[in-house]
Amino acid sequence: MTIIPDTKDWTWVLERRCDECGFTASELAPTDFAGLVRQTAAAWPAVLARPDVRERPNHSTWSPLEYGAHVRDMLRLYRERLTIMLELDDPLYPNWDPDAAAVAGRYGELHPSVVSRELLDAASDIADAFEVLVPEEHRRPARRDDGASFTVKTFAQYFCHDLVHHLHDVSAPSVAEVPVEE
Ligand SMILES: [Zn+2]
Repeated sequence: MTIIPDTKDWTWVLERRCDECGFTASELAPTDFAGLVRQTAAAWPAVLARPDVRERPNHSTWSPLEYGAHVRDMLRLYRERLTIMLELDDPLYPNWDPDAAAVAGRYGELHPSVVSRELLDAASDIADAFEVLVPEEHRRPARRDDGASFTVKTFAQYFCHDLVHHLHDVSAPSVAEVPVEE
């Protein structure tokens, strides 16, 4: 099975509400970044324990396991990018090809409970990093090699939309609906 690469430029999510998942990234304040990362990550163990975890809903959509592995790798990648943005002046970082990463990382063959634990660890790392940012750091710039430019703030807003959107992709409760009991 082949997944058709999603080559859309998603930076428009910084300008307006996403109709697919309902999230408005530009309204997210820097003080909310860490909490949103932790809240969305907390929804994944249930997704990765589902009986359909290895099933692709159709031939062009990832399985919940593949989405979970993608989110884990995204959390790790953005943690690295954040470090680069804090250490270098206006760094240029390469765009990431998630479909190539899925093939190289054999996402479909991974163990769901391992992915679940790794995803939570990666979320905790980047949430900790967001939590200690000071206001000047939110203004630090960076560029992506496809021409997009970000500040730490818009980079985090873009990233947070992705986290919410991927829960929508696997039909998991959105961030507002994640149960808080247990
Ligand atoms: Zn969305």
